Amino acid sequence: MPEETTTHQATASVIQRVAAVEAALHERGKNPGEFIEQANHLIEEQWIPHHGARVVAKAWTDTAFRQRLFANGIRAVAELGIAMPKHHRHLVVLENTSTLHNVICCTLCSCTAFTVIGLPPDWYKDLEYRARVVRESRSVLREMGLDLPIDMEVRVWDTTADTRYMVLPVQPPHTLGWTQEQLASIVTQDSMIGVARLPSPAPQ
Ligand code: FE
Repeated sequence: MPEETTTHQATASVIQRVAAVEAALHERGKNPGEFIEQANHLIEEQWIPHHGARVVAKAWTDTAFRQRLFANGIRAVAELGIAMPKHHRHLVVLENTSTLHNVICCTLCSCTAFTVIGLPPDWYKDLEYRARVVRESRSVLREMGLDLPIDMEVRVWDTTADTRYMVLPVQPPHTLGWTQEQLASIVTQDSMIGVARLPSPAPQ
């Protein structure tokens, strides 16, 4: 009987695998260290909810901008220097009112307009949120601290690869007359996803 020639190789260590990936990238003229630095910069400095907060603040104070935002979200946010990746083909801005509440999710995975409203929080990627918010949105929102009046309509929007959403929260009345910078400082990521509404202080 011929001698067994097949040998089972042990899996390479993480260090060996990283070195192999780095070598392959170098061979193709790429610099992985630079790439990781660029990615970290994007994550920490660019893909942050503050961009969306600036969009909201401008929409609250500039009616013409607000109309442009509803007509073509990508073009309107570009006016504020905010770019979206090519595969984000539409940015749909959903207007909350005193009688309508919008909330967004991605039932498939974790898609968001991340260059505008920031990278999604862990709970947004969680199967429980993704599965339940479309079926029992009021209960999920209540569990997250947002108890909506029974007569308020709730609309749930499921993000796709090419259509991204952001919620335009209702401006709290006590902030009328504030500067855009002051307004942007109160806009949270949760309010642009639609799991929160911006509070007004209780009347004195
Ligand atoms: Fe997704």
